[in-house]
Amino acid sequence: MKKIIHFQECSSIEGTRIEALNAVLDKIKKPFKSGDSVGIKLHWGEKGNKNYLSPVYAREIVKWLQAGGMKPFVVDTTVLYSGGRREGSESLATAAEHGFTEKFLGCPVKIGDGLDGKNTTELPAGFKHFKTVQAAKIVQDADGFVIFSHFKGHLEAAYGGAIKNISMGFASRAQKQRMHADAKPKLNKDKCIQCGECADICPSGAATMDIDNFPVYDLSKCIGCAQCIAMCPEMALKIIWNTDIKVFQEKLIETAAAIWRLIQNKTVVVNALINIVAECDCLPGDHQKISEDKGFISSYHPVAADDESIALIGAEAIEKAHQNIPWQRQFEYAKEIGFY
Ligand code: SF4
Ligand code: SF4
Repeated sequence: MKKIIHFQECSSIEGTRIEALNAVLDKIKKPFKSGDSVGIKLHWGEKGNKNYLSPVYAREIVKWLQAGGMKPFVVDTTVLYSGGRREGSESLATAAEHGFTEKFLGCPVKIGDGLDGKNTTELPAGFKHFKTVQAAKIVQDADGFVIFSHFKGHLEAAYGGAIKNISMGFASRAQKQRMHADAKPKLNKDKCIQCGECADICPSGAATMDIDNFPVYDLSKCIGCAQCIAMCPEMALKIIWNTDIKVFQEKLIETAAAIWRLIQNKTVVVNALINIVAECDCLPGDHQKISEDKGFISSYHPVAADDESIALIGAEAIEKAHQNIPWQRQFEYAKEIGFY
């Protein structure tokens, strides 16, 4: 496995975090040249999320790139579920609400698959689950990338870091659906308070309330986005996997590996191990902390960055937050397909 470039510890004080980020950036040998357009791939947080990375960190990366003569921009893609990021225009409004504006960052803020989510490209993959992978066209168009990832827990992958930021983060909406397709909701009626939240949030119309005011799920319409499961206030919904949950871990890796093949020589990876909470920034709310701040890691490979991030936090913290998710399969499978 390729080594990390640098890890710099920090405390939870913002000034020390910024110093730590700049220390890891300083150690990176930029694979970009003057004039290159370089995308800073990050997640600006779902509407109502309280744990996303503040734009002050992205602004430091912008300055670092501009100092080398590059033309940075901040980028994310459209998502499957309703909320504040399904369409590009909504997503840019959410980004602005969270402070990710051109004025603050000093660079443009873009949607990598276009405002309508249709600007995509089909990449060769040749793996067990995916022969091709559909990604945002920006992976081809940009001269380079900084994959800047908030390391934290995740409902279906147990944790989210650089691998997920590339995989789900650059995947087109269709590719996101292809990865999620096996996660379906199963109701525990005893826990349900009939609030209707799951039906309100369901983007496909699969979740509706029946005449007794309990939710029902039409699995033929369900796109497996898991929003209902994530948003239920009573945790009355469990995931049923039509296939082994390991398959999701493998699909995540296959998508990341196919995209990485294309961008590997023009990309660096930075993981932020701060505000480490149990859930992804794609969920509204203020989520429970699972670890103290650790610092920032830079790497030339996403698998190395995530492996090191887990070692720093401790696998127990992730497993306690998300039991019975075989996240280790991501690393085994990455090795099996030569993505390391
Ligand atoms: S029922 Fe299916 S499509 Fe609807 S929110 Fe739940 S997982 Fe997503
Ligand atoms: S969100 Fe949860 S508690 Fe509310 S109706 Fe749906 S399953 Fe029941």
